[in-house]
Amino acid sequence: MPHSLLERLQPSARMPVMFLGHGSPMNAIEDNAWRDSWQALGQELLGKGLRPQLILCISAHWLTESDWALTAMAQPRTIHDFGGFPQELFAQQYPAPGAPAVAKALAGELHSPADGSALLLDEHWGLDHGTWSVLKPMFPEADIPVMQLSMPYALVPQQHFELGRQLQALRERGVLIVGSGNVVHNLRAMRRDLEAGNQAYDWAHQFDAEVQQRWDSGNLADLANFLDWGPQARLSHPTHDHYLPLLYAAGAVHQGEAARVFNDDFQYGSLSMRSGIWGMPG
Ligand code: ZN
Repeated sequence: MPHSLLERLQPSARMPVMFLGHGSPMNAIEDNAWRDSWQALGQELLGKGLRPQLILCISAHWLTESDWALTAMAQPRTIHDFGGFPQELFAQQYPAPGAPAVAKALAGELHSPADGSALLLDEHWGLDHGTWSVLKPMFPEADIPVMQLSMPYALVPQQHFELGRQLQALRERGVLIVGSGNVVHNLRAMRRDLEAGNQAYDWAHQFDAEVQQRWDSGNLADLANFLDWGPQARLSHPTHDHYLPLLYAAGAVHQGEAARVFNDDFQYGSLSMRSGIWGMPG
């Protein structure tokens, strides 16, 4: 890793990497088992001496066209990118600092698998709810710098996985990589009578299990081929913005690291909350 980044991020014990199903934005403030799990993860990390130097979040809610971008502002704003929720949710803030110098170094060191170009620096985005709804319960002090990496939606899934591979080395520099999306995400098929639990559509269960199979076998590269698995893939992801963050997390996993799975249930019958963490010391 080049000198410029080494100066800013100190060598560390290898940080875990996680993919979190975030579901409804209300999970940020509702007292439920998913939010409890995010709180517990933060406490576990700190208890094990794994306080991140930086959190790099890849959220389902930041799509760019064909270039990757990194947030580079000193104080990213909290984005309330949703509608129709109570005022209490709009009042939430997550005032974690950014890390402009690291963003600048990182943007030059990561390269687009599509054309080899450097990443772009962004001064306009901030922290969207895919990021703050899970980080606020996890690290309520908001004192660890947070950076978001965008996802260029025009590119094929394999290229997202390849960029995730480039993130792998950051885990030895105190960077906690968090992919935030959902393993199954079909908003039109949501059933409000199924707030939480394991009731879901057959296609949702099928796709959810197929993802888990790849986690079990360690064949994480095959996650990028999901559109070839059958019609259950498109039913589970009419658009695949909530699936792509998984490819970044999977790309950053080292061979042989097993997933610790949690929240393996559904919200509203069509949002899988299945989450995994790789490389958490026992
Ligand atoms: Zn979402």
